[in-house]
Order: sequence, then structure tokens, then C-alpha cells
Amino acid sequence: MAPPAGLACFDFDWSLIDTDSDRFVIEHLSPVLRQKLDTCPMQWTDLQNECLKEFHEQGGSGKVIRDALTKVPLDPHMIKVCQLLHSHGWTLAIVSDANSVYIEGILQHYGIRHLFSAIITNPAFWDAQDRLHIQRLIPADAPQHGCPTGVCSLNICKGQEVDKLLRAITGQRQVPDNPAQNSAQSSANDGAVWMMYVGDGRNDYCPALRMQRATDVYFVRRGRSLEKYLARGDPAINGALKAQIVLWDKAGDILHELEAQPQFVSLTSATGMSIEGPC
Ligand SMILES: [Mg+2]
Ligand SMILES: [Zn+2]
Repeated sequence: MAPPAGLACFDFDWSLIDTDSDRFVIEHLSPVLRQKLDTCPMQWTDLQNECLKEFHEQGGSGKVIRDALTKVPLDPHMIKVCQLLHSHGWTLAIVSDANSVYIEGILQHYGIRHLFSAIITNPAFWDAQDRLHIQRLIPADAPQHGCPTGVCSLNICKGQEVDKLLRAITGQRQVPDNPAQNSAQSSANDGAVWMMYVGDGRNDYCPALRMQRATDVYFVRRGRSLEKYLARGDPAINGALKAQIVLWDKAGDILHELEAQPQFVSLTSATGMSIEGPC
């Protein structure tokens, strides 16, 4: 019999790290650009790219951005959480609306990049002039995700991205691009994969619909928009969640919970799975 599989997904901003990386970096670059984040109605990813373009046009150096990434706060207990899961054979993935340069840079700074099998996020790259570009994961001119939950950003449906991870793990073929199969009810997880998810924002609701067991654990950060979304008590929203919800404040709370729940240490290091493609 195949060993059990475990997939641990982390949102990045205010989940794996203790800040919003987009805001943190822009604030580090320029108070004027930081102000622009709160006043400009442009789509969020496009706005990040626009701010970085302006920073470069004003003579800003890429080194300042790279330096900012080394100052992003990450709780040492969160590093222990990742190390514990990885050592027990869990596959770790990040599903984030930040971007690949920030996430890769921050994980490398903390020496934990190797713990993650996949980073699903908006693609970013440095050009020959040392200007950082950020693009939407789903470009504006590509077929849009059409997620029915209403919580996902225009450029990423985290639930559909988790579905792709699950298919990669379970070896299932991609489902046809059929709108009827884009709903949460068509989750790629039939319960064969143990899951945990760490999130803080409303857009972390959609991926939680992919957790099919009562032993799956949904770590919802206290005081942030996801907790408030669930606190409304809408039966259609809360009733669709099958996982156990654990509210957390600090990363130490997650570590404590993992140590208390036997399923997190029941996998062995031999069961680690590879995810091909997304990363
Ligand atoms: Mg977040
Ligand atoms: Zn969605």
C-alpha cells in the first residue's frame, strides 16, 4: 500500500512571513510610492510593476530592493514548522499573490528555500538594466480563472492552483478546461492527500475547499480578513469547509498544534513527493 501523502500549503504575506512583502519593499524604496499603493486604483500586481518601473526611472537601484528582502520579518518558529513538516515527509508549497523574486529572495535569505517543492505566485524577473518586473500569474489577455467563490484575486485563484499541485502529487491527468469543473466541488483532492493550509486573507478561503478530511487542518490567522470572513457565519461559506479550523496568532501556535497532532509526525521522510512543473 502506498504511504500517505501530505501537502502543506502556505500563503506567504502575513502567513509564512510577518508582513506584506509588496508593501514592505515599496515602503523601503520610497514613501511617495508607498502612498501610491493606497491611492491608485490600478490592479494590484500591475501597480507593483508600475511602482518598480517608476523607482527604476528615478535612478533607484535593484540592490535597494534586494536589501529590503533581507529585512523582511519571519518568525523563527515558522522556520521550525517548515523544518518539522519537511523532516516528516510532507510536501511544502507556497501559494501566494506576491511574486517569485520576493519569495525566492526571502526564503534564500532565511536558508529555507530547499524545504519547498513548489512556489505558485506571480512571475517576476530582473532585466539587463537591473529593473525588476512583476507580471500577473494569469495575464490580463489570457483566459481568466472564473472562480465562483468571489474571494480570489483577478490574477490568481489559489484553489485552482492547489488543484494543480494535488494532481501533480496524485498523478492525475489535468482535467479538461470545463467551467463546470472549475468549481470548488470539482476539487482534485478526493481525500487521498493529507492537507494543511496556513493563511490569513479572504483569498485563502478558496484553497481550503480542497481539504476533504476532518483531520486536515486549516490554520486561520487571528484578526485578519480570513478570520473576519469566516466569523460572518454564512452557512454556505462555513459549511463547505471540511477541515478542522485552528486559529493562530504567532507561528509558535502552529508549531504547538503540529506537535500535538499525531498525523503530522506519522509520515516518514521516505514519503516526500516531488511536484513537477509549477516551480
Ligand atoms: Mg496573506
Ligand atoms: Zn478561487
